[in-house]
Amino acid sequence: MTNRNEQLFTRAKNIIPGGVNSPVRAFGSVGGVPRFIKKAQGAYVWDENDQRYIDYVGSWGPAIVGHAHPEVLEVVREVALDGLSFGAPTEAEIIIAEEIAKIMPSVERLRLVSSGTEATMSAIRLARGYTNRDKIIKFEGCYHGHSDSLLVKAGSGMLTFGNPSSAGVPADFTKHTIVLPYNDTSSLKECFAQFGDQIACVILEPVAGNMNLVKPTTDFIQTLRQITEQNGTVLIYDEVMTGFRVALGGAQSIHGIKPDLTTMGKVIGGGMPLAAFGGKKEIMECISPLGGVYQAGTLSGNPVAVAAGLKTLEIIQREGFYENLTARTEQLINGFNQAAKNAGVTFCADSIGGMFGLYFADTFPSTYADMAASNVGAFKQFFHGMLDNGVAFGPSAYEAAFMSAAHTPELIDETINIAEKVFFSMK
Ligand SMILES: *Cc1c(COP(=O)(O)O)cnc(C)c1O
Repeated sequence: MTNRNEQLFTRAKNIIPGGVNSPVRAFGSVGGVPRFIKKAQGAYVWDENDQRYIDYVGSWGPAIVGHAHPEVLEVVREVALDGLSFGAPTEAEIIIAEEIAKIMPSVERLRLVSSGTEATMSAIRLARGYTNRDKIIKFEGCYHGHSDSLLVKAGSGMLTFGNPSSAGVPADFTKHTIVLPYNDTSSLKECFAQFGDQIACVILEPVAGNMNLVKPTTDFIQTLRQITEQNGTVLIYDEVMTGFRVALGGAQSIHGIKPDLTTMGKVIGGGMPLAAFGGKKEIMECISPLGGVYQAGTLSGNPVAVAAGLKTLEIIQREGFYENLTARTEQLINGFNQAAKNAGVTFCADSIGGMFGLYFADTFPSTYADMAASNVGAFKQFFHGMLDNGVAFGPSAYEAAFMSAAHTPELIDETINIAEKVFFSMK
């Protein structure tokens, strides 16, 4: 039998660097051949070998209502007939902005962009412009897109400034970025004691999902809000992943915290390129054309993307949506925990709303260092075992996984049975 995935990967590598348009897709950290997807429906994706997979990647989060939802597809078709892009304002942009502000009350003003990277990059520029300060704080293991000042790794000492984590980023561009360990309240306090009046903003994933799922402690979250307020520092919740995912109102609704700025993406586009940043009116009005902080985009607020996003936002606000999504996610992780126990595999799983993490470790991680100490080799075995049996997870131990409304309790039981078989095979 010809393996189309292999053929396509070979062909792709001759024209696209590494064969992919985003690095994790290349399967570099798990080995093997990436699956080239040709279609998706509900909870399933199909690869070019016509192999079907129960999908827990969900396009890395956007597919919360299930892939190719008929109502979303219908509005996309309808709106596309009236033109794909105008480069001028539309009514639908106002409607989606109003809708988001209703769901997330900390958002008094909002601007649409096309990717999470743009949203966080713009929010940071805005925070710097608003405060007239240069330094920013991010946390180790949190991902905020690939703009230059965020591609940093921690320096050698606790409070030294970051070094570029990517070639092509001048050290001069990251010298204002301080990298601290997640959930470490004392290093945060130490840092503010030293540099408080120079720090423009703190950006964090309020529930981390890019070093696998890592939950913040209550102390960490509350200290962050207090200390940023005391120092006139802008608190940015990067909810590109967690927004409309861990709860309708994002992590901020669970934490009971009002960040100054919030970035969004993934779910709000319903699978189309749409993202946003928003927050306090006073800060947002520093953006051009009202203020001196420049930001723009040819395709910002694209009408087709906005239509897909609006319909998705409508569906997720229907009665019982998050109760069901949360229950399904819990069903899955409880089943996985039991199955691993039955097989005697060191493993634990955790979830929040429609997002979950699988760890080959005794306890849940609370920092990047914890996560790095987990058994990544066991994850690789598990990943390929599941994939061979028709279940797809993200091809890296450092990724969270995603539930959708299209995953039925029966499908989740089927997934648990497959996982048990795979756990036993790992012994
Ligand atoms: C995915 C993600 C981004 C980047 O979004 P893109 O649309 O891929 O540019 C930023 N922040 C977080 C928390 C993310 O999960």
